Amino acid sequence: MRMKPVRTLSGVTPVTVLTKPWACPGNCIYCPNEPNMPKSYIESEPGAQRASFLDFDPYMQTAKRIQSLQHIGHNTEKVELIVLGGSWSVYPENYKRWFIKRCFEAMNNPNEGSPNLVETKTSWEELEVQQEINETAKHKCVGLSLETRPDLITQEEVVKLRRYGATKIQIGVQSLDDETLAKNLRGHNVATTKKAFELLRLGGFKIHAHWMVNLYGANPEKEAEDFKKLWTSDFCPDELKIYPTSVIANTKLAELYETGEYLPYSTENLIEIVGELKTLVPPFCRITRVIRDIPSQEIIAGNKISNLRQDVKKYLDKKGLKCECIRCREIKQQEVLESELKLEVIQYETSISTEYFLSFVTTENKIAGFLRLSIPFEELREEHFIEELKGSAIIREVHVYGGVVGIGKEEEGKAQHFGLGKRLIEKAEEISRENGVRNLAVISAIGTRNYYKMRGFEMENGNLYMHKTLEIMQRY
Ligand code: SF4
Ligand SMILES: [Zn+2]
Repeated sequence: MRMKPVRTLSGVTPVTVLTKPWACPGNCIYCPNEPNMPKSYIESEPGAQRASFLDFDPYMQTAKRIQSLQHIGHNTEKVELIVLGGSWSVYPENYKRWFIKRCFEAMNNPNEGSPNLVETKTSWEELEVQQEINETAKHKCVGLSLETRPDLITQEEVVKLRRYGATKIQIGVQSLDDETLAKNLRGHNVATTKKAFELLRLGGFKIHAHWMVNLYGANPEKEAEDFKKLWTSDFCPDELKIYPTSVIANTKLAELYETGEYLPYSTENLIEIVGELKTLVPPFCRITRVIRDIPSQEIIAGNKISNLRQDVKKYLDKKGLKCECIRCREIKQQEVLESELKLEVIQYETSISTEYFLSFVTTENKIAGFLRLSIPFEELREEHFIEELKGSAIIREVHVYGGVVGIGKEEEGKAQHFGLGKRLIEKAEEISRENGVRNLAVISAIGTRNYYKMRGFEMENGNLYMHKTLEIMQRY
């Protein structure tokens, strides 16, 4: 029996794990603070409950999830590991290495490994051994996401994030208005967020931003104005979670609500605002969520509708408006004809690079696969803070839709059959050459290394990225 196919529609099975309870240097007024949870998580949230039940053990969380998905008939060959829990960057160094190593051990062998709740001293080398095993393991890690705060992103941190094998960073932006950030005690300003985006982009990471609506001090008229700043050259995230603020017990926001200083928007208002924000999202971004999954009994005030996405869609349909984000355009399991697909190139500038979003789209503008290419401006490229990226353009993501198809296997009629990934990479090489860039790097997840090897990318011992030297065509 195979249930809930939607989980793996994008070809990859997400496995979410939580780190142990730990404090966060932040003091955000809306953030719950439960003693037995990592900061910002609530024990009754479904994912948090699972993690807590397993004592936050990384091996058990990963293995159990893979086992239960297998049990209901899912293909779990391609796993996106999503590590949640407050701010990753502030956990102790050894804990982080151990945590990720144990997750890899579970992907490498989910059925036989023994639970080991005790953190053991773990070196980078020990982690790398498990990563190497994963290159050919049955459950390959094709994406690894970590979450942190903008003010914790430094050059050194970017390198470390890469050593864990991360390909995507979830980062709390919440607002791009300094006054609102200060009122909500975010503890960092807009300039810090800009810097974090620059460093993460230079590191080739996919940037998954979190954005909040109805923060303390915000007002309906200004929401869109603030949100528009997210699409200026300083930011442009690749993925986005929109969270309407919820008032949770024992937070400073709850006190402000009690005294009448904070007022949540009405449901109607909220639907209109989220709807408007969705129409402002460019086609290279994917909106992953429009609510946070907080059980309604935990919410004193604020949004309690768990299917806000559908309500927003109805509102947009009624108004004849559309969200053009990636998620709203994915072909999902739909069969596509190669002859129907057109390669579209969207070029945009950020504060540090020229970005190319290449996508194969159908005549109805449905998206069958895409690639993100980043070409840092010349000076930044030549002086790159990561030695092995000096002089390189970088592929930050390749994603081809279709049902879950084993890596290297083919399935009739599905998007992956056409070698769309290969064609996207060839186009990225062509664009890099046209820009006079002779080196192309890719931020490969551990489990995709062999895929890129087959496409001419190489990795030497100790490398954080895979590389390919491009032949520059001579014109006579
Ligand atoms: S940064 Fe995140 S985890 Fe830390 S206090 Fe703020 S909302 Fe909570
Ligand atoms: Zn959308």
